Amino acid sequence: MIFSEKTYQFMYAALQEAEKALDYNEVPIGAIVVKDEKMIGKGFNQVEKLKDATAHAEMIALTAAANHLNNWRLEDCSIYVTLEPCIMCTGAYWHPGSAIYTLQLLIQSLVLAAVYITLPRMLNLTIS
Ligand SMILES: [Zn+2]
Repeated sequence: MIFSEKTYQFMYAALQEAEKALDYNEVPIGAIVVKDEKMIGKGFNQVEKLKDATAHAEMIALTAAANHLNNWRLEDCSIYVTLEPCIMCTGAYWHPGSAIYTLQLLIQSLVLAAVYITLPRMLNLTIS
């Protein structure tokens, strides 16, 4: 397994948030903030619902996480997002020890791993 089981669980939770956005006819984007392998913030895109250009899923998840920690500095937290974060969200999130996981990153990593595993077998090569 390339990623931990928790990584898949958190990305699945982000996808569930994205589905909530879709229920409100929003662009389906979801985000989860994690610290010490626990979800401390979640959010979905609510730009239209709140009539707020900054109500991106990440910003809502970050606000929820900051409220949870009672601290806007989300050090050593990870964020799981169903889309590459925009400049605003990336800037709002960037802290020491932070990590951003996106659905594209997970898929690209899985595809690369599949290529590296299957291609040598297909070509009957051995890697030493
Ligand atoms: Zn954003």
